[in-house]
Amino acid sequence: MGDYAFRLSNRLAPWGMRMMTIMETSADSSPAFRPIAVPRYDSWPEAVKDAVRDPDELCRLVNLPPRYASRAVKAARDFPLFAPRSYIARMRPADAGDPLLRQVLPLEDELVQREGFSPDPVGDRTAILSPGLLHKYRSRVLMVATGACAVHCRYCFRRHFPYDQGPRSMGEWARALGEIESDGTLREVILSGGDPLMLADAHLEELVGRLAKIAHLRRVRVHTRLPIMIPERITPRLLALLRGTRLTPIVVIHANHARELAGSVVDALARLTDAGIPLLNQSVLLRGVNDDIEALAELCERLVDLRVMPYYLHQLDRVAGAAHFEVSESHGCRLIEQLRARLPGYAVPRYVRETAGATSKLILA
Ligand code: SF4
Repeated sequence: MGDYAFRLSNRLAPWGMRMMTIMETSADSSPAFRPIAVPRYDSWPEAVKDAVRDPDELCRLVNLPPRYASRAVKAARDFPLFAPRSYIARMRPADAGDPLLRQVLPLEDELVQREGFSPDPVGDRTAILSPGLLHKYRSRVLMVATGACAVHCRYCFRRHFPYDQGPRSMGEWARALGEIESDGTLREVILSGGDPLMLADAHLEELVGRLAKIAHLRRVRVHTRLPIMIPERITPRLLALLRGTRLTPIVVIHANHARELAGSVVDALARLTDAGIPLLNQSVLLRGVNDDIEALAELCERLVDLRVMPYYLHQLDRVAGAAHFEVSESHGCRLIEQLRARLPGYAVPRYVRETAGATSKLILA
């Protein structure tokens, strides 16, 4: 277990996959949109290995001038670029403001120090109960199951998290499991990260199996961006694991724009819902990505159409390096009002802010 994606070699040899164009069913019907040729993979780890890590390559793929890449290199030094090719295929070529590109392309803005923005904006470090285990809210705990992700979101609130101090093997989880076992008030464990679905199935099975043996636990919640980034990850074995555990599983995906919900992502979400797994979505309100009513309404409607409930719209956590994504809370509240006027109540997410040390999230609207 551990930083799986980071340990993988940079690129798969071309003989490891079949090259073909995936014609994604894009939510964007703009005539300017042209899909990019991407490989189809035989397994999800191949898609992880083949993710783009080089700003030059990303800019070539989306047809942007090299100056964007040279600006990205410095910003990527501390938090490297990492983006799967099937996600890049959903971007609009030659559009530096594309909402999907904006989420992954490092910018010089990240290097600007802004007052009020810090490495640990939500108090994760003070909530650490034992290595890998965070306790903030009553009745549930969060396990940072791995530091690896299928994508590096530039606004990530854990971009400075000390993942290297967490457990790296099943044996090293013993202390955290002991803490969970000794606290009879706990009902739910949230598997987070990083992204818990970056763990190999065998590791996940072992971890969930150990949790299921703790009698007072009722639910296991999985926070993941894998179904959006690498939909091949939703395998029959993973579905069997989620369906087979004694614990009630809940999967919370993370999509910020309707165009992320395209092509094989649609099938992956259908596999989860057809298996009876409740699906929720959390988004972050991001400047230039989803901070207008059309983008947000289309995202919520698309989620509902795919049987995913819009759960949270997060106010940006004020993490150092992400200030350029911030949208004011007053604008966010106006957007929620507009959503309420357009959509049925179940399609409107709760707009929330997390504050370090608070006993719950604050509902803004
Ligand atoms: S997938 Fe989640 S944990 Fe990983 S970089 Fe994105 S926001 Fe952060």
